[in-house]
Amino acid sequence: MTADIHVTLTRHLIREDGDEDLCLAMYAPSTGARRDTALIREACLPLEGEREVHGNATVTGRYVLRVAREARNHGLGVVILHSHPCGRGWQKLSELDADAEASYAHMIAQVTGLPLIGMTLAGIDEKWSARRWSAEGNHFAGESVRVVGARLQVSWNERLVPAPSAMPSQLRTVSAWGEPTQASIARLRVLVVGSGSVGMDVAIRLAATGIQKVGVMDFDVVEEVNRDRLVAATRRDARLQIPKVDVAQRACINAATAADFRFQRHHLSVTSPEGQSAALDYDVIFSCVDRPWPRAVLNQIAYTDLIPVIDGGIGIDIFDNGEMRNATYRTHVVRPGRPCLQCNGQLDPAEISRDRLGLFDDPTYIEKGGQPEAGKQNVTMLSASVMASQLALFVSLVAAPSKFGEPGPLRFSLTNHRLEHVEATTNPACIYENLLAQGDQRVPLAQTAATSPATESWLTRPLLGFAVRYVLSLIKWTRRP
Ligand SMILES: [Zn+2]
Ligand SMILES: [Zn+2]
Repeated sequence: MTADIHVTLTRHLIREDGDEDLCLAMYAPSTGARRDTALIREACLPLEGEREVHGNATVTGRYVLRVAREARNHGLGVVILHSHPCGRGWQKLSELDADAEASYAHMIAQVTGLPLIGMTLAGIDEKWSARRWSAEGNHFAGESVRVVGARLQVSWNERLVPAPSAMPSQLRTVSAWGEPTQASIARLRVLVVGSGSVGMDVAIRLAATGIQKVGVMDFDVVEEVNRDRLVAATRRDARLQIPKVDVAQRACINAATAADFRFQRHHLSVTSPEGQSAALDYDVIFSCVDRPWPRAVLNQIAYTDLIPVIDGGIGIDIFDNGEMRNATYRTHVVRPGRPCLQCNGQLDPAEISRDRLGLFDDPTYIEKGGQPEAGKQNVTMLSASVMASQLALFVSLVAAPSKFGEPGPLRFSLTNHRLEHVEATTNPACIYENLLAQGDQRVPLAQTAATSPATESWLTRPLLGFAVRYVLSLIKWTRRP
């Protein structure tokens, strides 16, 4: 849920008289490749007489039916929420709670076609717990509840996702922010989209921090021209044109400090439906791609699926004589409550269309006077600054020093080494920011293009590609003096 919805629900559920309270909300499903998420779209607070509060709060059938009908009309599901004023952390479900929720599970599933979600708010630390109900009245505990604002606050189901024990190799990290913060950060699922000069280094540092599940998504392979930026890649990787995700996997496994480190390898593009589904399994996404279409897909997910996206980019200006004029990098957390990449001036709708049509790759288009692909210039010593800034935004988002969350969009100019907070405005009619918590109802931006690697067979492409590359590398090798 967004931080705004969390505040609305908490204000209602935590009462001054210390009694329990109860209310309903509507959710949209967000279906990833391996994870289902319920995104709370709207809190539906009770009208006069729709609930009774007397120690244990109860809702009336009229209230449940009103919200269930409204949810059905919007294609949404129903959440039933109540508070445990003296609770702390993930709450167990008492028999009384289970009976009350189970009694509505069948009716709500019948009316909305979606399973009932039950949630409990612990009054002392404002932690949430959640479960999904089958129409037959069986419940399945959730793994975590995420609240997305300037900070990403996660309530963990300690039984299903226990806190990993801190390792001796993490001593310096844990002493910087304490064990509870480390235990929460280590359990986040973090995806890095784009395993280039920035993404590769971001992924390695996430693994070294002790994060257990780091995913890297990239459909590209290493080439000799990448080696001035991909510091983890070897000459051999470039000669054999090894996929960048495989280089990232090797480097992350070498750097990882978690006892149970799991690298998720996604050799595909986020602009394919498979890539987008995989992205929906993550809690935070680093956008380390420079092409407009993948950035547009991630920009959308940040709002429709409430997954914060930490994006960054660098632009290098050059004088006509080929010398450097300036380098500017911009970094920002894209999330509800902050401007999207389009409002922030980072995405041009015309460029997204050109990228979708494959015109970035079309030399005839460029010769006819179209713009060449932006961002071809890159210096690894400067991409390290972009990486550092994106990682610092991640720390602000998840560890929130002095309770400050992420600071808003940033811009750094190399000529005078000035770091500014960008005054970014939002278009009131923005198509991204106004469509919060759409989940599976989002307008699809990801699609299978004719040239997308996702359309090729998962079996033939790697095998054939590897065979051809191997033969080519042998020929090159035998030609060496
Ligand atoms: Zn209860
Ligand atoms: Zn916008």
